[in-house]
Amino acid sequence: RIYLDHHSTTPCDRRVAEVMQRMLVDEFGNASSQHLFGQAAAAAVVESTDEMAAALEVLPSELLFTSGATESNTLALYGVCRHPRQRRRKIVTAATEHPAVLDPLARLAQEGFEVVHVPPYPHSHPLVGQVDMEALLEAIDDQTALVSLMWANNEIGTLQPLQQVAERCHQVGALLHCDATQAIGRVPVSLAKVDVDLLSGSAHKFYGPKGVGMLYVRQTGRRVRLRPMIEGGGQQQGLRSGTLNVPGIVAMGRALSIAMAQLDSDTDRIGGLRDRLWNKLATGVDGLQRNGPAFEAGRLAGNLNVLFPGVEGEALMAAVPSVACSSGSACNSVNPEPSHVLLAIGRSEAEARSSLRFGIGRFNTEQEIDTAAERLIAAYRHLRTMLA
Ligand code: PLP
Repeated sequence: RIYLDHHSTTPCDRRVAEVMQRMLVDEFGNASSQHLFGQAAAAAVVESTDEMAAALEVLPSELLFTSGATESNTLALYGVCRHPRQRRRKIVTAATEHPAVLDPLARLAQEGFEVVHVPPYPHSHPLVGQVDMEALLEAIDDQTALVSLMWANNEIGTLQPLQQVAERCHQVGALLHCDATQAIGRVPVSLAKVDVDLLSGSAHKFYGPKGVGMLYVRQTGRRVRLRPMIEGGGQQQGLRSGTLNVPGIVAMGRALSIAMAQLDSDTDRIGGLRDRLWNKLATGVDGLQRNGPAFEAGRLAGNLNVLFPGVEGEALMAAVPSVACSSGSACNSVNPEPSHVLLAIGRSEAEARSSLRFGIGRFNTEQEIDTAAERLIAAYRHLRTMLA
């Protein structure tokens, strides 16, 4: 089995799992309890929060812990737009966002918000996948409550120029939310340099456990008013009640520290493996095309999305079950529709259905890349002869 689906999820790093096990078994206290067990758990949460805040260059009190990026996105979008003092009625986003942004926004549209989906540059453009900046800047006006733009795309790896968008938002008093789920731990995410107001992340995308995530909510300067969704014990400043997931939070902190410490070396190595996979596949498959931006320009190092001409991606995956990758978006694979991201960059339905996404990660080896490429090429050729 070869795992090349790291946008979908990553394995938990053993160093992270060890810390998590200690918290589950030994330091199991409820962080809200007064006694020594509770104090030990609370101290571990404080230490991990400080670690994560330092990594993202934010204040510890600006981080909320959630069950993952889906919850963080939902809390950010509903929280800002449904706040009783929210007067503005417009939301601006990109057509290439993840369903964890698009679906809550569709709900808000039903509730009367105007939601503008700005298209990306098409695949013929050098900035393919980046949001059409002129259209975006024009859409953001003084009626805009919120702009939601992801840091890195989960299908084609495009990185978005967030700082430029942040400046425009703040000129007109709109807030900027960023879904940074695919970016945290993979590219430098510093909120000292990029002025967003809310930012979502999820531990299982950077070698931490599933079911724990974070939402950054700005506390300095501009006011971010958030209406809570989960109410109960009043934990986390009343914005997200419920007993803290101490093992998950501590594990997420450890995972982020490791990712930050290894960021440069992981990026170089993973980028090299991605180039290797592309070169091998392109040599073995006539007419292979890349979806998304050039490798050297504004793209996640581990992301490769390719169009195998004349063959369905699903059929190719079924023919090589030992190579884990994804057709369309795995987060969304219950949905058989062709990828909305590939359609948005101008691929046809047939082209989108012929595309596969590979996500290369920390523990992949050259040997794995070579074996995966050989198996995919052999299966592709076999399918082509059967279809001829
Ligand atoms: N946002 C993006 C960009 C993603 O890639 C994912 C992946 O699943 C999510 C949100 C949802 O994250 P989670 O699984 O933590 O809810």
